[in-house]
Amino acid sequence: ARTFFVGGNWKCNGTSDDVKKIVGVLNGAEVPPEDVVEVVVSPPYVFLPLVKSLLRSDFGVAAQNCWVRKGGAFTGEISVEMLVNLNIPWVILGHSERRLLLNESNEFVGDKVAYALSQGLKVIACVGETLEQRESGSTMAVVAAQTKAIAERVLNWDNIVLAYEPVWAIGTGKVATPAQAQEVHTELRKWLHENTGPEVAASVRIIYGGSVNGKNCKELAAQPDVDGFLVGGASLKPEFIDIIASST
Ligand code: 13P
Repeated sequence: ARTFFVGGNWKCNGTSDDVKKIVGVLNGAEVPPEDVVEVVVSPPYVFLPLVKSLLRSDFGVAAQNCWVRKGGAFTGEISVEMLVNLNIPWVILGHSERRLLLNESNEFVGDKVAYALSQGLKVIACVGETLEQRESGSTMAVVAAQTKAIAERVLNWDNIVLAYEPVWAIGTGKVATPAQAQEVHTELRKWLHENTGPEVAASVRIIYGGSVNGKNCKELAAQPDVDGFLVGGASLKPEFIDIIASST
């Protein structure tokens, strides 16, 4: 069985005081045990050590990005080695905000995923189509190409969580319907089955992201191929606790 996974992507938000407040809420929350729901929060880089030091130990921590290979003369970048050094177990890669605003290509994202895994990190790899792509009927082609660039570079999927985040649903309040999410997740699992094998397809967690909140999470979580969530805006609010508990 696939352990339900709930990630909180704090994106580029907050001050150290905000961070302390959010962590305080999380630390005081009663949530299902780790073997039922795996929780990982992803603060901005500068707050990673603070969050790591304050956050309860049953919750994981993720960086929001990393450099594509070994660190060195790459001004402004943060290396995988630094994350390993700080005991940060997870990294989010290929978020649509980076693909679209910073022109990260499928290949570049695939290279990052492969390098991060090679150094022992676990990866939340994001895929998803724009509204234009959905309306032109190319949703599956887009997410398959994004997933393929990872599959071509990675043999072992044990440490990957695949996040389906339709761009039109991110930060818009327009959540995918449970049926829309289930449809793409099923297709992605089928793609994994055909291209990486039945074991990977059965075990990889495919989580949904895009306007998930305390109200819509339960119905989405009930879909058989929705194995969790990657939450943006609502992960900064107390309703994140309800989302953590949505599968139970
Ligand atoms: P929102 O939940 O704010 O729509 O963001 C989703 C997301 O991009 C998580 O990575």
